[in-house]
Amino acid sequence: MTTKSIASLLLVLFISGGASSVFAQKRKTIVDLIIRGGTVVTMDGERRVIENGAVAVKSGRIVSVGSVTGIDRDYTGREVVNARGKVIIPGLINGHTHVPMTLFRGLADDLDLQEWLTKYIFPAEAKNVTEEFVRVGTRLGLAEMLRGGTTTYCDMYYFEDAIADETSKAGMRGVLGETVIDFPVADNKTNAEAMAYVERFVKKWQGNRLIVPAIAPHAPYTVSEEHLKAIRAFSDRTGAPIVTHISETKREVDDSLKAKGASPVDYLNRIGFLSNRVIAAHMVWPSAEELGVLKQIGVGIVHNPQSNMKLASGVAPVPEMLKADLPVGLGTDGAASNNDLNLWEEMDTAAKLHKLISKDPKVVNAAEAFEMATIRGARALHLEKEIGSIEKGKRADLVIVDLDDLNQTPFYNIYSDLVYAAKAADVRTVIIEGRVVMRDRRLLTLNEETIKADARRYRERIIQSLGSKTVPED
Ligand SMILES: [Zn+2]
Repeated sequence: MTTKSIASLLLVLFISGGASSVFAQKRKTIVDLIIRGGTVVTMDGERRVIENGAVAVKSGRIVSVGSVTGIDRDYTGREVVNARGKVIIPGLINGHTHVPMTLFRGLADDLDLQEWLTKYIFPAEAKNVTEEFVRVGTRLGLAEMLRGGTTTYCDMYYFEDAIADETSKAGMRGVLGETVIDFPVADNKTNAEAMAYVERFVKKWQGNRLIVPAIAPHAPYTVSEEHLKAIRAFSDRTGAPIVTHISETKREVDDSLKAKGASPVDYLNRIGFLSNRVIAAHMVWPSAEELGVLKQIGVGIVHNPQSNMKLASGVAPVPEMLKADLPVGLGTDGAASNNDLNLWEEMDTAAKLHKLISKDPKVVNAAEAFEMATIRGARALHLEKEIGSIEKGKRADLVIVDLDDLNQTPFYNIYSDLVYAAKAADVRTVIIEGRVVMRDRRLLTLNEETIKADARRYRERIIQSLGSKTVPED
């Protein structure tokens, strides 16, 4: 063959190859992002686990989930993330936090709830909480949560508008509740001010792709009946969820029986406060009948095993909640009572705590614990149509987790691995609303060094504000 004929043969091959790929591309749908090559733990209705799977994402939503072969045949991604050898899971859902309290992490530990709140946390908050404090603490909490694969969190604090602003800038999803409480607090001095704040806050953020604004009465023992009824009416009028604490300690139940002649759940039901927009944190002490009432009304429940253990609040009847198919998720609570925002630990703890208490190793198995951090947690936040599983049409909140670390080797069972062996540090890449916010453990929307420096500066201020006696010496 002459040089000339080789050249013309190559030209023919080039043209025909080019033509066939153009032809093939025409049949493919172009999407923003394809994650391909990992084991996809869908948490869909059939609990499909797809080996060598892929997920196609467009305009922030999942357009297809399936095998690599199928996705490659139908879609072309503007961006492709390789997940070979890893696991693709739905983003984790932290159902209960007070995110700026990261700045009080370790400030006062090993105390019961009332002493912890009244002697330390309320005074520390009174002296330190400003909008700037809230922004610094929120950025710290967001960075910690994103690095652990949490893509949605449900919050209750002050200056919640600033929290929403930081959360949306970081590209994270949140159900964010502005606190209403019957004493003067950092952002609002009266109930009228708080209700006006919530009115503006909900109006501003409703319809946002990432933020669900909510109203957050602190608890039935810190907000009056009249105010609770007004909050329910506000929620009915605006559709905003209600985030609150219910039945956290035995003392709360005893005090409620004494003062109101009813347990917290009975009392709230009696005054018409409960609805299918309520998200109730803790629910440690409900009776069997009360669980029935909660199910019938559709109240979302968030179990906080580590916070309840640390404050010795008790053990929520989670096996009974699961048996009755209640919408119960998992939360860390604020970092001052945990002391981190790590959902992996909550899954592990939830599974083990209930086995110990019920003396039955079969309750809260690994798959159920994982479900509480994903799809059941989405139900607790009343967002199961949007998040919590990897399904066509849902928001593209996806997390890629390593599967080959020493603590995960050898591998037998996906749910056992995720709940009992994997750590937050095994999370590699985090995608929220189709946007990569952490790639190979590097945060793309937050600066870790600045966040740590800011938090350490606040530590000095907090120590000064309280006097040295309350803080352990260096
Ligand atoms: Zn709480």
